[in-house]
Amino acid sequence: MKHRIITIDGPAGAGKTTISKLLAKKLGCVYVDTGALYRGVAYEIKNQEIDWKNDACLEAFLMGLDLNFNRAKDALLLTSSKKDITPYIRTPEITMLASASSAKPQIRLALLDIQKNIAQSQDAVFEGRDMGTVVFPDAPFKFFLFADLPVRAKRRYAEMPQEQKDIKKVQQDMEKRDTNDSQRKEAPLMAAPDAIKIDSSCLTIPEVVAKILNYIQKR
Ligand code: C5P
Repeated sequence: MKHRIITIDGPAGAGKTTISKLLAKKLGCVYVDTGALYRGVAYEIKNQEIDWKNDACLEAFLMGLDLNFNRAKDALLLTSSKKDITPYIRTPEITMLASASSAKPQIRLALLDIQKNIAQSQDAVFEGRDMGTVVFPDAPFKFFLFADLPVRAKRRYAEMPQEQKDIKKVQQDMEKRDTNDSQRKEAPLMAAPDAIKIDSSCLTIPEVVAKILNYIQKR
């Protein structure tokens, strides 16, 4: 691996996105949100009404899928068949469909090269669930961010548009996603044995960023 790769894994609401973006900015490298890819797949499954639980249908669908990241300033925007789908992939429905469908090994395999190719050409902070365990097991800097469920649910609730606000549902959905993501057979959500684990429940964003930078700079 020629480029400096930093992996940040962890459950939803642990602060991965905010922290990864800040970190990438401070380090002058690109930020890659791999969850967007799984959301992109879910968006197209819904859009094209794919019977994704049927392996033959899923495989035919994946053959025709054309997801890409395109550079916009220091972030990457997701396109599907050249159309920017970034605005459509954050609804609660797509979130839950991404979590369910990402358990399919065919989907994970189809997204592997996109992630690895980015790391071939630049330094990057990769955020996801299996960055340190499966996609970049040799990354020199691996972090696993976590926090108590009620804290994570409150954070997500605070970011939501008014019409979607329902704290009970946010926490239930998050718990369901935690279960889906950590109990699936393929690339389950877990800390790599050599990842630094950080509990962000009682830490501010700058405190977490400082901790991570401190680990990186010490090495
Ligand atoms: O990170 P985000 O919440 O956007 O991810 C949406 C879903 O995509 C997760 O709940 C998880 O099921 C899946 N995902 C994954 N592997 C990744 C990133 C996301 O399985 N590396």
